[in-house]
Amino acid sequence: MVQIDLLRLRQCGTQPLTGSIGPDSELWDGCGLRFAGPVEVQGSASLAAGGGIVVQGSWRAPLVYECGRCLDDLQVAVERSLTLLFTPDDSWEAPDPDVRVIDGRETVLDLRDAIREEIVLEAPRYYTAGEEDGRCTRCGSPAREYRSEPNGLGPMDPRWAALKVLQTNQEENDGGSQETGFQAAEAEAPHTR
Ligand SMILES: [Zn+2]
Repeated sequence: MVQIDLLRLRQCGTQPLTGSIGPDSELWDGCGLRFAGPVEVQGSASLAAGGGIVVQGSWRAPLVYECGRCLDDLQVAVERSLTLLFTPDDSWEAPDPDVRVIDGRETVLDLRDAIREEIVLEAPRYYTAGEEDGRCTRCGSPAREYRSEPNGLGPMDPRWAALKVLQTNQEENDGGSQETGFQAAEAEAPHTR
């Protein structure tokens, strides 16, 4: 539940906000994001001049992306600050997309729709893991496997590239081919001296 008790808010002036929205909530239907766990929301709500309400805090969403390089699933926790402004509908004048209207007769302010909007707006659509020493920092696959080939054939299908990595690892683990490589290096050595 991510909501504010408006009666207590009007009594106390501020109310803490903590809550979570499950990854399978229908709230996320059609939003184009994948969640690995619940979205956590925390902060506080306070009364503002003129009967408005200010909610300040943060949200944290454990999102799942397909790595833009290798299509492996990547879990990325996206965290952003949250500021929501609500104004009583009778003071509604100039339409401001950042200010939401609150019905003065409500006793509970449900923040889920507002939080959904914020997350859909601010969470990245795509995510590509970084690259370090030629390897994807998340999955460890060699980054060069996913670059386009100079011969114009275009980038290798990442699914094939993933198989190729497996194949290469297998060859490395195979004693026979390692020995062959060692012998070849030894044979070359006299010429380089
Ligand atoms: Zn990757």
